[in-house]
Amino acid sequence: MARHGHARLPLMTSQQLDQIPLTSLRGVGPALKAKLNAIGIYNVQDLLFHLPFRYEDRTRISPIGSIQAGQTVQLEGEIATSNIQFGRRRSLRCTLHDGSGIISLRFFYFSAAQQRSLAPTTRIRCYGEVRRGRTGLEIYHPEYKVLTGVEDEPVTDVLTPVYPATAGLQQTRLRKIIDQALRLLQDSDPIRDYLPAELTAKLGLLSLTDAINLIHRPPAEQSLGWLNEGMNPGQKRLAIEELIAHRLCMRRYKKNSEKQAAPAFKNKDELLRRFIGQLPFSLTSAQQTVFQEISQDLYRGCPMLRLLQGDVGSGKTVVAALSALLAIANGYQVALMAPTEILAEQHLLSFENWFTPLGIKVGWLSGKVKGTQRRRQLEEMANGSSQLCIGTHALFQDEVTYQRLGLIIIDEQHRFGVHQRLALREKASQSRRQPHQLVMTATPIPRTLAMSAYADLDNSIIDELPPGRTPVNTAVISNDRRDQVIARIDKACAENSQAYWVCTLIEESETLQCQAAEVTAAQLTQLLPDVAVGLIHGRMKAAEKTDVMARFKAGQLQLLVATTVIEVGVDVPNASLMVIENPERLGLAQLHQLRGRIGRGAKKSYCILLYQNPLSSAGKQRLTVLRQSNDGFYIAEKDLELRGPGQILGTQQTGLMRFKVADIVRDANLLDEVRSASEQIMSQYPDIIDPLIGRWLGENINYAKV
Ligand code: ADP
Ligand code: MG
Repeated sequence: MARHGHARLPLMTSQQLDQIPLTSLRGVGPALKAKLNAIGIYNVQDLLFHLPFRYEDRTRISPIGSIQAGQTVQLEGEIATSNIQFGRRRSLRCTLHDGSGIISLRFFYFSAAQQRSLAPTTRIRCYGEVRRGRTGLEIYHPEYKVLTGVEDEPVTDVLTPVYPATAGLQQTRLRKIIDQALRLLQDSDPIRDYLPAELTAKLGLLSLTDAINLIHRPPAEQSLGWLNEGMNPGQKRLAIEELIAHRLCMRRYKKNSEKQAAPAFKNKDELLRRFIGQLPFSLTSAQQTVFQEISQDLYRGCPMLRLLQGDVGSGKTVVAALSALLAIANGYQVALMAPTEILAEQHLLSFENWFTPLGIKVGWLSGKVKGTQRRRQLEEMANGSSQLCIGTHALFQDEVTYQRLGLIIIDEQHRFGVHQRLALREKASQSRRQPHQLVMTATPIPRTLAMSAYADLDNSIIDELPPGRTPVNTAVISNDRRDQVIARIDKACAENSQAYWVCTLIEESETLQCQAAEVTAAQLTQLLPDVAVGLIHGRMKAAEKTDVMARFKAGQLQLLVATTVIEVGVDVPNASLMVIENPERLGLAQLHQLRGRIGRGAKKSYCILLYQNPLSSAGKQRLTVLRQSNDGFYIAEKDLELRGPGQILGTQQTGLMRFKVADIVRDANLLDEVRSASEQIMSQYPDIIDPLIGRWLGENINYAKV
């Protein structure tokens, strides 16, 4: 124990906390150190940047007689009985009483020592969520502490933080060592505050030390929702710093790339005109404008980094084709990457149709291309005979090399996320000349978000749909009326229309999603004997999927039951009805995307959002947005507005950006300040750019350097 004695503390605080090893803290040995390392904590400073994700209120002790199921409470009392029960699962059941009432505590995992320590007459304090059990109120696995002293143990006067943890790392232990780290923080100022005082004053921010203290140990009078609501000024201080670090990183990336060389393409008007002449339609003026913007970039000798936004169905693919054609006509290869196999296949079909008549060779690579076929594809990419290479992220695996890659096109960018984008660019820059990059997203992003998430990109927007589209009529209908909905499909198919039935599931598991789709397809086949029902999901073989899609496209199948794999890329103009089951589980942007599969022909189209009762009023309000509007940008703004804490459009879901503290959606109102602060830092305080990026992006820092 002497090794961890208090006497050493003053010595240590003269050091910066990121230099102090974890093992210098009391109670941290090699085993605990390994667990902390596993969650990215390597030194005392890391511990302080390991922030709680919620708080619990343990500042009060509730009388047992006053509590109700559903509440999370702190109780204190004496164990009355303690028995092992052999029900469906063996458990330890103790009863606790405090004079006002009695409650059961139930443990499904417990040691013999634990059982002994919870013997009758022991006094404990415990914390947990109350539920209604067979024998009255119960708490499963409460956190508890045996009280030994005769005197009352004081309750805490701060909210109790709950930290991200890992197996075998208990909250109480984590709190104890973070307490020690906070004590070290108090003694001096051992974490460097990089933001200039001028800036923190202007933005009204707490000092870094105050912010860290406040976020780890907020005073009891604060509401528990403090963190979720983003109202904690400590959190705001850290979130702003983190957002600034990210922005600086992306801005630097952009600046650097402007200094780099990329192929300067020459105008190839004649070929482009020939291609456009082949199309069964003429370009919209929005398509022409954005292609102008893109081609201007491509004529310059530095890498294009451009985001192409456009609502679903706005015709981004043709613009991509024009860009690809320009690169190919200049003697360069083009890589076109899509996030899913099915979308990549759709692109393969379109581009082969367009390009093969022009004598352009199209290559294909996905995870499912194997054996000799794969070897041949790789060879043709390496020797340059594949001029356009289409595929999934397989296009950028180590084994793939290109002879003369001049342009990378990434479709449906939001699926990949900013880190992958930067990593990809890193990889693509093996040669002296950087390829140009065009990033296409079908999910319109609210302006403020776009400017932050894509601070390294220029922005082009297709703000007009091709003529002749009829807006989709959307209805929000309860699953209680499922029969009517099915009858509606019957009628539509009898009138020679086609329909989609989209199954969603909240489970991450693709297998479960596919099973649900299989079951639904079987039911609908039975209920709709006159309708040819098809099924498509992600676990089918590529050839099977292609076959089903082809039959649906040809009208041999009338109803297509699908998982969300049809979200992108599927194009069947005769489909005019779509039922989306459990739409409440998806984000508005994703629903809008799905709905974009219909309304592509001349027929009036209908989308039915078949929700599961009961639906909260907030949930209903969200779906109503889709009924009111067909405008992806409006829907994206609304999604942002209506999104509660931790809900759908969250960055985890979209993969837009990953942060430690900030949440780009919740903190959207900070983004203007972040932008101007970053500009000021770049012009007046360039020295702090590196340390800020280092602190917040850590190992990802190599994305920033070129
Ligand atoms: P998205 O922007 O969602 O990727 P697509 O590029 O898939 O949209 O285009 C959707 C549909 O619109 C396709 O069938 C495409 O052929 C058609 N299309 C594209 N541009 C035009 C246009 N200018 N006029 C008419 N139809 C067009
Ligand atoms: Mg598309």
